[in-house]
Amino acid sequence: MGLKSSLREWIDDLLGVIYPNVCEICNTPLVRGEKLLCTQCRIDMPRTGIHTDSFTVMHQRLVSTDVNICRAAGYFYYYRDNPYARLIQNAKYNGRPYIARQLGYEYANEIKDSGFFDGIDAIIPVPMHKLKLWSRGFNQSLHIAEGISKATGIAVSEALRATRRHSSQTTKGAYERWLNATESYGLAPDASLPEAGHVLIVDDVLTTGATLLACARVISEAFPSARVSVLTLGVTHLR
Ligand SMILES: [Zn+2]
Repeated sequence: MGLKSSLREWIDDLLGVIYPNVCEICNTPLVRGEKLLCTQCRIDMPRTGIHTDSFTVMHQRLVSTDVNICRAAGYFYYYRDNPYARLIQNAKYNGRPYIARQLGYEYANEIKDSGFFDGIDAIIPVPMHKLKLWSRGFNQSLHIAEGISKATGIAVSEALRATRRHSSQTTKGAYERWLNATESYGLAPDASLPEAGHVLIVDDVLTTGATLLACARVISEAFPSARVSVLTLGVTHLR
């Protein structure tokens, strides 16, 4: 056994202590070739299967008079209290961006033969405000985008940035104003896109669609001839 492979094994063992190599859903130990999920949980995953549809449950939430969403894909339905929601929660709040990257990679691999990524020039993650980034340590959407990039060869472009828009209530203290501020999006200073390009905006979960629409709007305003498609891991069920 070479030094390199024994070192890798040692690192795997060490990581195994921190993050035991078990299924994220049912905690069964994973066997060789399985990643994140055991085979059964992978089969049972509530996949949306919508990536080839021209008008999807995602498009419904992204209808707008000023921006047109081309293609839309979401890996799985995201029900509250469903164990599969844990995948995204673990990636996001438990400091494990590896999960986001791996899921992005897997999903892109699953759907790339359908033509979903054909003609797409850049993968743009929904940006995270720098203070949030500082407290969380990573932007999960960037990791999803990098996973998709690895599977498709399409470059990631951090063309968007997030700012905070404060509410106008001046009676509130600075901290309260901060808490009540909502994220708004703009173009990164060095953003560039190919003429008449097609971009894929990536986020972890589609809920109301407001975030993706806001990002799509920024791209459309700056690059009117650009086409915009979207991809998320989770698609919530609104009740
Ligand atoms: Zn399992």
